[in-house]
Amino acid sequence: MPTGRLVPCDDAAVRPVLIVANWKMNTTPADAGDLAVAIAAATDEPAVGRVICPPFVSLQPVRDALAGSGVEVGAQDLHHEVSGAYTGDISASMLEGLVSWCIVGHSERRRDHGETDERIGHKLARCREAGIRPILCVGEQLQEREAGRAIAVVGEQLRRTFEASARMDERLVIAYEPVWAIGTGLTARGADAAEMAEAIRQALGELGYGARAAEVPVLYGGSVTSASIGEFLAEPTIDGALVGGASLKVDEMAGIVARAALTARARQVIGETSSGAGDRRGDP
Ligand code: PEP
Repeated sequence: MPTGRLVPCDDAAVRPVLIVANWKMNTTPADAGDLAVAIAAATDEPAVGRVICPPFVSLQPVRDALAGSGVEVGAQDLHHEVSGAYTGDISASMLEGLVSWCIVGHSERRRDHGETDERIGHKLARCREAGIRPILCVGEQLQEREAGRAIAVVGEQLRRTFEASARMDERLVIAYEPVWAIGTGLTARGADAAEMAEAIRQALGELGYGARAAEVPVLYGGSVTSASIGEFLAEPTIDGALVGGASLKVDEMAGIVARAALTARARQVIGETSSGAGDRRGDP
């Protein structure tokens, strides 16, 4: 991970604001479509990119239900190999046509399925080959943050992942998800998440993205709700959220996306009037 001064990004206006719903192992094919339609109707904000990631078996019904809504569909994972003897797994080619996004490297998969950064790098490559836009999750454990190593840990995750993935992906999205904040009701402080987002872009720049690192959206994830989303979106370096538990509740999603729309519209105005220059500490 780079050391030294972190350079603030001044171009939040050119990055989209995204809210990604991770339904995890919840919903059934019988009810997922109805929930997706209800969320789409309650979050009809064209300024905000909206993605719903249901379980694999609900991808088709959710995709059908969301047709014409402007909400995109993502998978929660994909296999790191192209095909073969991998019982129960899902390959990138199986997802083609069903999804436009895929979460990669979620901490629950690292924890429960032993996913390594190297494997996650191969998953990025599978996404690239299939034209699927990856949302790469990175984040530290609580002890690592308490030891002052959070930025170094995330930097190492990025380095090992991109070493394995071999190429930079222009459509990459990063989700900074401190492991201790996922599903716990705890959240990072907005300022800490913002510092990490800057560090992530700086690391990407040094890993081969160069100036394009400033264009990579960085989301925050970890117990985000309609009450807490504002703290993160007020930070110019943060471009949205990966939402787990709250994404199963229509009212919560309505509140989160409504708040995100304020930020998206403000950044659009800033982008139009100042070509991205200036101090954005006053972002709504
Ligand atoms: C997640 O699933 O990535 C997540 C952040 O979950 P939660 O919002 O429930 O913490």
